[in-house]
Amino acid sequence: MRDQLEFFRDLGVKEVFLDRSPTAGLVSGSMPDIGSLARFLEGCPRCKLSQSRTQIVFGQGSPKAELMFVGEAPGRDEDEQGLAFVGKAGQLLTKIIEAMGMKREDVYICNVLKCRPPNNRNPEPDEVAACRPFLTEQIRLVSPKVIVTLGTFAAQALLETDEPIGRMRGRWRSAHGARVMPTFHPAFLLRTPERKKDVWEDMKLVRDYLNK
Ligand code: URA
Repeated sequence: MRDQLEFFRDLGVKEVFLDRSPTAGLVSGSMPDIGSLARFLEGCPRCKLSQSRTQIVFGQGSPKAELMFVGEAPGRDEDEQGLAFVGKAGQLLTKIIEAMGMKREDVYICNVLKCRPPNNRNPEPDEVAACRPFLTEQIRLVSPKVIVTLGTFAAQALLETDEPIGRMRGRWRSAHGARVMPTFHPAFLLRTPERKKDVWEDMKLVRDYLNK
């Protein structure tokens, strides 16, 4: 934003008008803090999910968290309460965070999509494209050391790959200036508890890296 303003100033432009309409594009790097970004997103009509959602689920937690969890999209409980990961999968995520020796308030939790897809269907590419700049700005502002992606969709969206989660999990990647650890989604663990030990192995790598 500053570079852009300086560019216009050097051209002799004396006044600029910011587009504050609800469909205004997000200028990357323009938000001073996470609260401003949440306000910018209020009433978002940028994709079709705005017609079926109850509330936008922006994400929550410490704005200076070293650890960020990124899931897929809000489910029914999240859509009702306006908070990420508060349903059954969220309760399991809380247990995972606590097993790592942390509290939910110490970390930041959000999703790739900020609105619930109807009947929890898979996110569609136009929805991801519309929402991606908000996740990118959220990551820039929180500036976590580690991002844990939960499930196939979050890992593929964040790492811009189509690799299967079974191959990605447990292996460090990097994106947005952070180390990224893909792991299984807690909703998958509720259906397949025998894979909990894999997630625990992944979370030990994260915990040890953060405690180093
Ligand atoms: N599943 C997700 O991916 N995100 C939530 O917030 C809840 C369930």
